[in-house]
Amino acid sequence: MNNITIAIDGFSSTGKSTVAKQIAKHLGYIYVDSGAMYRAITLYAMQHDFIDENHFDIEALVAKLAEINISFLFNEKLGFAEVYLNSVNVEKQIRTLEVSSFVSQIATIPEVRYQLVKQQQKMGKDKGVVMDGRDIGTVVFPYAELKIFMTASAETRAQRRFDELINRGDNVSYKDVLHNVQERDYIDSHREDSPLVKADDAVEIDNSNLSLEEQFNKVLDLVNMTLKDSE
Ligand code: C5P
Repeated sequence: MNNITIAIDGFSSTGKSTVAKQIAKHLGYIYVDSGAMYRAITLYAMQHDFIDENHFDIEALVAKLAEINISFLFNEKLGFAEVYLNSVNVEKQIRTLEVSSFVSQIATIPEVRYQLVKQQQKMGKDKGVVMDGRDIGTVVFPYAELKIFMTASAETRAQRRFDELINRGDNVSYKDVLHNVQERDYIDSHREDSPLVKADDAVEIDNSNLSLEEQFNKVLDLVNMTLKDSE
């Protein structure tokens, strides 16, 4: 059977990565969380004082881009690849609300996008990949055989994200999480370079009222149909 490329895009916290991981595992494909790469660069910018609430030194960050190495290493125990920033595992650090509050600004920088898109295309060059993000079906893999665009109400998404952060022990309020989700949606959809838009040939799935199992089965049906078509 031919390997295909599966692009899953959508707004923040729509559960893209959950279904992407499940599908990749089911098919024996590589899963790439492209958001983790933007988050890792954001963490680097924070660690080097290039960004905080009061200032954002784009030039200084761009000058250092060549020194930023982002890689993924499969963790057998967890069953997915964790992200490394210059050889340091930053999987947990990149998921904080603080990183979330700056990441969409970092993702507006064309030089950052150029570098990451190139790396993402390299990771998917042999197909057999499931990648989730905001521009995967439009920019990274415009010829992906299957494109999915996930949506859900902002309140549903914020509640899921809030539960996730509380479960891992972070001290956050629902109001702050909702604000962050809405702010990222706005910046991601309005930026000049590669804004978040549904690709014309993407299948839209609103998962506000779907269980994880229903969502998985829906995506799996699409995958099986696409695999048949590509034979
Ligand atoms: O997917 P996740 O929510 O972790 O992504 C974090 C942020 O990274 C997004 O809000 C967006 O600003 C940026 N991003 C992007 N393009 C991608 C993936 C993520 O601009 N392909």
